[in-house]
Amino acid sequence: MRKKIVAGNWKMNTTVSEGVALAKAVVEKAGEVGKGVGLIVAPPFTHLVSVAEVLKGSKVALSAQNCADHVKGAYTGEVAVDMLKDAGCSWTILGHSERRQYYGETDEKLVEKVKLALEGGLGVILCVGENLDEREAGRHFDVVKQQVKAVLYNFSAEDMKNIVIAYEPVWAIGTGKTATAAQAEEIHALIRKTLAEKFGAELAEETTILYGGSCKPSNAKELFAEKDIDGGLIGGASLKAEDFIGIALAF
Ligand code: PEP
Repeated sequence: MRKKIVAGNWKMNTTVSEGVALAKAVVEKAGEVGKGVGLIVAPPFTHLVSVAEVLKGSKVALSAQNCADHVKGAYTGEVAVDMLKDAGCSWTILGHSERRQYYGETDEKLVEKVKLALEGGLGVILCVGENLDEREAGRHFDVVKQQVKAVLYNFSAEDMKNIVIAYEPVWAIGTGKTATAAQAEEIHALIRKTLAEKFGAELAEETTILYGGSCKPSNAKELFAEKDIDGGLIGGASLKAEDFIGIALAF
């Protein structure tokens, strides 16, 4: 049975005190969520140490939203994997479309980051997904397949055990436009097939693949009912504990 996960990407939202309050509210409600569903929150860097304190002893794990592509040194403004581990993270999100689009994150850079994250003991949530032009041109299958191959084909089956993939169609992120369950499922199945071609069917079956893009309590049930959708990476709706937990309860 592969792991089911609901992860909240807080992006650049909340002050530290608001983030701590949100984390407390998530922890309070986390008991309602079944044992088989993992919960992760990804606050901004400034919040990590304080939120880690709140999450201690709970079932909610801590993730960063990004990590540096170097181990340490003269890289102003960057945060290294060791620092994230030390702050209490067990995961990092990598390759979010906002990082690819606004900060020039390339597949080559992502290979470095995934490598460093895994070596440093962090699990990785790797985001992939096509933009609106690519979908309208009917290129979504090719684009997502290429993104998966460009990064993950550089890793081993052993590495893959600590990698979760999030399929996030860019046109559905923060727009209120969710992919239909069928649209999401066909890409999730393609991702699994792409993994199987390199790592074998068994590993592909064991890999958790999340959906992200305007997921909320009202549409999570339909999405999570699909056979290849193992949970969600949640943006906007993760900023309200009730909605975030409501999504996790959709399983
Ligand atoms: C995201 O950015 O990871 C995301 C899924 O955002 P939203 O849920 O707000 O669409």
